[in-house]
Amino acid sequence: MTTELHLEDSYAKTCEANVIQIDGDKVALDRTVFYPTGGGQEHDTGHLIQDGNEFEVYKVKKEGGIPVHYLKNPEGLSVGAVEATIDWERRFGLMRHHSLLHVLAAVLNTERGSLCTGNQIYPDRARIDLTEISELSNDKLESAIMKANEEIQYNHPISVRVLPRDEAEQISGAIKTVVNLIPPAVKDIRLVRIGDIDEQACGGTHVKDTAEIGVFTLEKVKNKGKGITRLEVRVAN
Ligand SMILES: [Zn+2]
Repeated sequence: MTTELHLEDSYAKTCEANVIQIDGDKVALDRTVFYPTGGGQEHDTGHLIQDGNEFEVYKVKKEGGIPVHYLKNPEGLSVGAVEATIDWERRFGLMRHHSLLHVLAAVLNTERGSLCTGNQIYPDRARIDLTEISELSNDKLESAIMKANEEIQYNHPISVRVLPRDEAEQISGAIKTVVNLIPPAVKDIRLVRIGDIDEQACGGTHVKDTAEIGVFTLEKVKNKGKGITRLEVRVAN
């Protein structure tokens, strides 16, 4: 088992940990600050330090339920203590774009009843697929983008809580996706709340308040067919 510190503190950049398994270039730790690819959010990058030697982590992926850290060159690493550190600039970009997608989805859910059918989050951009907006004029879409920017500037606090599944399912709109993507075996649901505008089941990392997102722009609109529209967005530097 690995304790995933990012689930409780998305601002943790570094941690003391122990290497518990090495398999070629793949390394498991007893605790980590690295986010593994999942829920549309890309993995972190960073490094491990052991006895003054630095090992670059270029990919992190869950395998068999455990985050696996892929090292560029594992030579010299052994089971035992390390210090694990993520590349903060990349992670912060991922956090800003992830929180942005939640705000955008919340605004379009309120205004149009839109549901999310997919999303992808990168450090410098993100995209979300939404229903109910394919007929929207450019003006109306621009005004929804403006509304989302207003909500962001309002500076809603962002918080996380974990609830038993049956309680979480009773929160109205907590799962605003077309399909419930959470496997039935999952008993506890992690919910990400944005002020009083949104609460979503989500395992990703988020900023602490919406002001951290900053102003964003709509970069691309693409009709995906079947009433689904893809929006690509980007936060200002
Ligand atoms: Zn999310």
